[in-house]
Amino acid sequence: MKKGRKMVNNMYLFEPDYIVETTNVCNMQCPGCYAKNVNEMDNNKIYLTPQKFLLKLNNIKEKYNKSIALRGGEPTLSPYIDDILKLSYCFKNTYLETNGLWVLDIEKYSSLVDKVLDYNIIVKLSFDRMHSSLPKTVNKIIKKLEHLNICFEIAITAKNLNEYMEIKQELHIPKYVKTYFQKFLDSKQKIIDTYDILELN
Ligand code: SF4
Repeated sequence: MKKGRKMVNNMYLFEPDYIVETTNVCNMQCPGCYAKNVNEMDNNKIYLTPQKFLLKLNNIKEKYNKSIALRGGEPTLSPYIDDILKLSYCFKNTYLETNGLWVLDIEKYSSLVDKVLDYNIIVKLSFDRMHSSLPKTVNKIIKKLEHLNICFEIAITAKNLNEYMEIKQELHIPKYVKTYFQKFLDSKQKIIDTYDILELN
């Protein structure tokens, strides 16, 4: 538990210093997705390349060196995710915001698992009402993450707080795993979003 962390509804607030949208591509099509994902962008797939990320990093890492969150879309679908994780190592905490489906296909994602472990990446599972795979799939993902010794946390939003409370008993969340309350961006948070990436391209 970190000192000075704000709480909402008895949960700590997930507040990374910097958020990076690594891609707009996702393997789910959740209704009401907040991300500007590929479904809305006429199949225009966008990926942040390590070179472009490095350009941005040089500007931000002095000021925002504590925590960074890599998200999408689904960041694990970026062909550059391994290199982006490596470049994020300069931050005290790096979060990989994911729907977690990759954990169920470890053979395909063995390199990603290695990077996550090597660089002490914290997997932030997005518990989302819009994801249709609850809670059975979430339990499978949790079990796998534990088995792999991957550090993970769970974040929920105001929109799904009630539902989370209702099915909490069905989720096998180990006691040591923190659940965070994720607020949407405020003016203090900085973001490299898909539009930034477009500008960089
Ligand atoms: S998994 Fe997340 S990014 Fe992907 S469609 Fe669903 S809400 Fe959007």
